[in-house]
Amino acid sequence: MMNAVEIKGLYKSYENGNIKALNGIDLTIEDGEFVSIIGPSGSGKSTLLNMLGALDIPDSGTITVAGQDLRSSKKLNEFRGEKIGFIFQLHNLIPNISVRENIEIPMYTQKMSSKEMKVRALKLLDDVGLKDKADIMPNKLSGGERQRVAIARALANEPSIILADEPTGSLDSKTSSRILKQLIDLHEGKNVTLIIVTHDMDVAKLADRVVEVLDGEIISAGEESLIHGKINV
Ligand code: ADP
Ligand code: MG
Repeated sequence: MMNAVEIKGLYKSYENGNIKALNGIDLTIEDGEFVSIIGPSGSGKSTLLNMLGALDIPDSGTITVAGQDLRSSKKLNEFRGEKIGFIFQLHNLIPNISVRENIEIPMYTQKMSSKEMKVRALKLLDDVGLKDKADIMPNKLSGGERQRVAIARALANEPSIILADEPTGSLDSKTSSRILKQLIDLHEGKNVTLIIVTHDMDVAKLADRVVEVLDGEIISAGEESLIHGKINV
């Protein structure tokens, strides 16, 4: 089995090294796994997710995602567009184009006709229960609806890995459950590798494995806590 993620000795600092965001991360995630990354605010979760999506460059260490070595700067745009579905903040939809056009944006890297893009966008919107909102502007949507559009957009190019940073952070519990169900359905139905960053333990424990981050280090990678459990017995 291939690994979706292989990270060894990853370091990242900001402000000329004064802020140490990641302090030697080692992490392997298998293809098709659902992993949640949990930890307090400022512990390095978003930094780690940005590295996984090749949105930021580490100071040192190795990182391979979906078979691509992210240290080689070649083809990173293609990699992001084809392999990764990003679900980040609530309000990252482009405001002055329609919901459907927002979903078509990632498809421009593919060789698709505008007709094909439209058909696919409408299918994706249908899947998240928003087909009737295709032609309206994002600012007419509720927070939960925007997040569902963000999910549809993340799936535009059928990514093998979905990276979600606090995808339910500012949503009520009912909407939050719906969003999570949609993500989990994808993971189960299409074997998508799902990596969700959250500070909410109720969300985190839905995953196959919970990775705990503190001060830029992994203090538990899920499977190890089982071993500790056995030693305690
Ligand atoms: P989390 O997502 O767990 O809340 P972050 O990864 O956002 O944590 O941040 C980890 C640390 O790095 C924090 O101290 C944060 O202030 C700092 N940090 C993150 N991004 C930047 C940046 N672009 N410039 C400077 N400091 C940053
Ligand atoms: Mg964060």
